Amino acid sequence: MAAGAPEQILYLNKPHIGTDRLQAVVKNLRSLIVSNGGTVRFRARVTGLALAGGEVRGVMVNGSERIDARVVLLATGHSARDTYAMLMEHGVALHQKPFSVGVRIEHPQQFIDAAQYGSQAGHPRLGPADYKLAYHAPGGRSAYTFCMCPGGQVIAAASEAGGVVTNGMSSYLRDGSSANSALLVGVTPDDYGSDHPLAGIDWQRRWERLAFTAGGGGYRAPVQLLGDFLTGRVSRGFGQVMPSYRPGTAFADLDGCLPPYVTATIREAIPFFDARVQGFAMPEALLTGVETRSSSPVRIDRDGQLVASVRGLYPVGEGAGYAGGIMSSAVDGIKAAEQVAIRYRPF
Ligand SMILES: Cc1cc2nc3c(=O)[nH]c(=O)nc-3n(C[C@H](O)[C@H](O)[C@H](O)COP(=O)(O)OP(=O)(O)OC[C@H]3O[C@@H](n4cnc5c(N)ncnc54)[C@H](O)[C@@H]3O)c2cc1C
Repeated sequence: MAAGAPEQILYLNKPHIGTDRLQAVVKNLRSLIVSNGGTVRFRARVTGLALAGGEVRGVMVNGSERIDARVVLLATGHSARDTYAMLMEHGVALHQKPFSVGVRIEHPQQFIDAAQYGSQAGHPRLGPADYKLAYHAPGGRSAYTFCMCPGGQVIAAASEAGGVVTNGMSSYLRDGSSANSALLVGVTPDDYGSDHPLAGIDWQRRWERLAFTAGGGGYRAPVQLLGDFLTGRVSRGFGQVMPSYRPGTAFADLDGCLPPYVTATIREAIPFFDARVQGFAMPEALLTGVETRSSSPVRIDRDGQLVASVRGLYPVGEGAGYAGGIMSSAVDGIKAAEQVAIRYRPF
């Protein structure tokens, strides 16, 4: 809150800041770090580790600069594919881990309000409604909604050239006309087709590139109306929901950009979700693909004190593979800082 977040984050069970307010919050947090003696470096990519005798001695930055350090907290996020490869080259132990893939689904927000609030929909004190749904298929797969953004926007979240990745966000007021949510199916290392620790990344990349091609290039995302997805047709026009994804979309067959067991589980889940949020299966709801960065497909091994197989290296946050989302990543960072303080305290 001291950094500019609304007071309600202290008591709401689903605290919300909003992308518009978050921009100032992040700047304020950075100022706080600097005022406490920290340094923030832009355009400084960690490209290697300096190691000696199985211990970390520092990091290499932008290929040539060395920063000496006995302790390195590595918090590079779940999309730092180059960093995972670099760690492997240095012999840091990594493993595959499960994550989830799927699509974003958009409905009119008014429609979700009516389904959830009934006759009270539109009451100014209620705010835009949300939902959270899960379906466990008899075959063992599970589908669920994730990162539901009331009054939000589907956004482009690729981190590599030639791939399309979706995500979602809302402004503080959540006053957009559409509600969106990730609609995901869990996948496991058995799906990746290789024992290589980074096979999950290659697998992830494959669907992102197929989505790029299906979108016709230019980072347009493939879209399909839910009714057409369920009956296996490429859509020809939008209905009640216009896509919020930028820079643009193209009608495509989403079965061509996702594994068949993922699209099959989504199809199975839709009627189940429809029974819980009445009308969830409305044919004009819009699916945008592909959502592949739900969490990391890689886990960096850590011992009970959160140290990697290289002493002095503390992989933390979502990229370490033990956290998902802002809160658990932040708490993971605090736990690692505590471990560092215990081990390296000067007395
Ligand atoms: C659009 C969007 C919306 C989201 N909304 C929510 C939400 O509402 N609630 C929620 O809980 N979570 C949300 N998430 C997920 C959330 O952002 C992550 O879980 C969280 O940011 C993970 O924190 P982290 O510090 O581990 O990694 P990150 O926040 O990903 O930070 C990693 C940082 O490391 C930097 N980096 C990577 N490699 C290197 C390198 N080699 N050298 C130097 N720096 C490097 C990156 O540039 C980045 O700044 C959202 C994610 C996205 C993309």
